[in-house]
Amino acid sequence: MDDKSDQAARLLRDKRGGHWYDNGVRFRCIHPLCSDCCSGRRGPGYVWLGEGEMRAIADHLGIKLDAFTRRFVRTVDGNYSLVEKHNNDCVFLEEGKCTIYPVRPVQCRTYPFWPEVMTSRQRWQRESRACPGVEVDETMVSGAQVEAQLSAEELSRASEGRV
Ligand code: SF4
Repeated sequence: MDDKSDQAARLLRDKRGGHWYDNGVRFRCIHPLCSDCCSGRRGPGYVWLGEGEMRAIADHLGIKLDAFTRRFVRTVDGNYSLVEKHNNDCVFLEEGKCTIYPVRPVQCRTYPFWPEVMTSRQRWQRESRACPGVEVDETMVSGAQVEAQLSAEELSRASEGRV
C-alpha cells in the first residue's frame, strides 16, 4: 500500500473508531455448500472493477486487456462491471466455483463486510437472509479483520469514484 492509500485507510479507521463490531462478529463462509453471492439467485447485480483489477484478470486468463473488456466488461453509469450470464450468475462462476479466484475483485474478497452491511448489528443480522455464513456458528472474525475488509472495500470504491 502506498503512503496515500495508507493514510486514507488510517483516516477511515479513525473515523469509525468504537463501533459495534469491535469485539468481532460471527461469520464463516460455507462455500462450497453455498455460492449465493456469486450466483444469480438474488437476481441481477454488479461486480465493479477498477483498471488494475481488469488487468489482473486479463493476465490471469492470458488475454489482452482490450479482449478482456470487450468480452467480459460492461459500463454502468460511467463505472465498469463484469457482465453476467443469462441466469444472472457471475460470468466467472462455473459449477459453484470462481474460475478467477486468485485475482477476484476487491468487492468479492470483502463481502459481506461492506459499509452498508456493517452500519449496525441489526443490518448485519439481516444480511443472513442473503448470506447464510452470517452467524452460522461460533466462528469469529475479529474487529480488526472486519475493519481491514471495510477499509479495503471503501478504498476500492473511492478509487473507482463509487462513493
Ligand atoms: S453468500 Fe455468504 S456463505 Fe454463501 S458463498 Fe457468499 S460469503 Fe459464502
